[in-house]
Amino acid sequence: MDDHLSSAKMQFDGAAKILGLDKSLVKALLEPKRVLEDDIPVKMDAGGTRHFNAYRVQHNDALGPFKGGIRFHPEVNIDEVKALAMAMTWKCSLLGLPYGGSKGGIVVDSKKVSVHELEEISRGYVRSFAEFIGPFKDIPAPDVYTTPQIMAWMLDEYEYIVKSHAKAAFTGKPVELGGIKIREEATGLGGFFSADAAASRLKMKPASTAVAVQGFGNVGFNAAVFFHKAGYRVVAVSDSKGAIYDESGLDPSSVMKGKAEKGSVSETGKGKKMTNEELLELDVDVLVPAALSNQINAQNAERVKAKLIVELANGPVNANADRILDEKCIVVVPDILANAGGVTASYFEWVQDNYGFFWSYTETLNRLKEMMGSAFERTFSKASEMGITIREASYALAVDRVAKAMVLRGRV
Ligand code: NAD
Repeated sequence: MDDHLSSAKMQFDGAAKILGLDKSLVKALLEPKRVLEDDIPVKMDAGGTRHFNAYRVQHNDALGPFKGGIRFHPEVNIDEVKALAMAMTWKCSLLGLPYGGSKGGIVVDSKKVSVHELEEISRGYVRSFAEFIGPFKDIPAPDVYTTPQIMAWMLDEYEYIVKSHAKAAFTGKPVELGGIKIREEATGLGGFFSADAAASRLKMKPASTAVAVQGFGNVGFNAAVFFHKAGYRVVAVSDSKGAIYDESGLDPSSVMKGKAEKGSVSETGKGKKMTNEELLELDVDVLVPAALSNQINAQNAERVKAKLIVELANGPVNANADRILDEKCIVVVPDILANAGGVTASYFEWVQDNYGFFWSYTETLNRLKEMMGSAFERTFSKASEMGITIREASYALAVDRVAKAMVLRGRV
């Protein structure tokens, strides 16, 4: 079992203990409802056919249709997809969304295939799993290295197969195809709302608060922009090629301009170069891991100096590290709360596509702020009421809602 899955199970076990769940309920909540695997054959531009492994894990649908992104990454594996699908169940539950949880993945390095090959892989994924997808079955969305264009190809292939318009079957689409404007920045923005609320509880003032962000893609970049706009000092950012550090603060938009020209934040000539490992151990106030899972683990947790960690990636702090961080009194806002802005915006997109009626940007923004804010308040109150960590409180709230739905449905 990979680290991410065993960590996800340990976090669930903690909640099951707090809630006093019986064995049969624990088993029913842990096991995915459906695990789908296929290989996607693609005729490559240079000739020949390559087969890409593809997965869809549908973890639990007691609260509603499955919902979860599709990751395009060379290291995707079935255990990781299972862990991510389970996290989606808890995340949707914690936010009060009418969804269960799922996740998908394709083993591919999207930087090493042509645009045409990428389109064929995306359409092939839908052909593999179409019968299990749909607005009221399972609603895929983007994840790491998945773009609105990929969602557009997937939607088109799906509608071709089912011979009907079905925009609400996918979220994270381009605006022209029923996507919503805020989706692009929603995860970063929601993460910023959570971080800002937690920082203010810890009596941090933006101007004197140093923030380091690992990962400078959709989530990390947008979060960095909102921190910067709110007056926080973003002192370090990174991507897969390395990190940069400037004690006086970086302007994320200007770093992004440089990255677009030079290919990496570390080649922009801004700040001092450092490694991703060094970034995680910087003496900052807020650390925002927004790249991959398992970045803070038993090996480096002891050296982490931040006072607040806001998990914008999925599973960046593993369960062993959690204990060490807790002993060091480092506050962790867990992924199922901190990065839920994306799925909440996806929910808004789904609602609007089902209705065929679209809200203004401001209305959507206000609803996002309200939903994230109330989930944050519920979780923090539960944590202080019970004297448990924010992660334990968020899992307890999330698992409890799904457990009740399972019992009411007579599934245990
Ligand atoms: P992305 O593909 O847009 O960006 C990923 C970033 O991480 C890139 O800057 C990449 O260079 C960097 N990266 C890759 N490997 C790295 C490494 N070893 N060290 C440091 N940086 C590395 O992906 P994203 O959409 O920003 O997603 C980032 C994380 O957030 C993922 O864990 C994803 O599951 C999670 N997440 C994303 C969303 C969303 O709406 N996009 C929602 C919830 C959670």
